[in-house]
Amino acid sequence: MIVLALVGLIATSLISGLFALGTHFINPDLSAGVFWIMFGLIIVVMEPINRILRARTLKQEAETFKQASKLCEVASAQQIALECEYCGEVNPSKILLNTANAFNCKKCGNENNVHVAFSTTRTSTPFTMEVAPEQSVVDELKDLEAVPHDEQ
Ligand SMILES: [Zn+2]
Repeated sequence: MIVLALVGLIATSLISGLFALGTHFINPDLSAGVFWIMFGLIIVVMEPINRILRARTLKQEAETFKQASKLCEVASAQQIALECEYCGEVNPSKILLNTANAFNCKKCGNENNVHVAFSTTRTSTPFTMEVAPEQSVVDELKDLEAVPHDEQ
């Protein structure tokens, strides 16, 4: 905020200085007066214009944020097939996590509330075989040979 005010004052001084410099070539005695008149005019005229522009920018940013929030909400909706609790018909339903969800059955028209629940599971790793597959096949064949056949 302070930096912006300083930049504004420097810009106002530069513009007023240019007018004063131009006046200096015409009449050097008037250059200081022109500088301060231009400095005052710029501050008096530009301040309300800046306020209007700032308010307009804030309004546009708020509108943009509102639209972005709606887009995020639509994009985060999950389409899930849910059975109607009254007739069993499967209905595609959009689920939002930040609001209560409900849908009307497309067959019977009854309203169904959607209960959302989450649970966790442990992360598991697959078992590793300590015996090479070829060796296990050989062992199985040996076991088969060791078993007496009923037909003999
Ligand atoms: Zn139904």
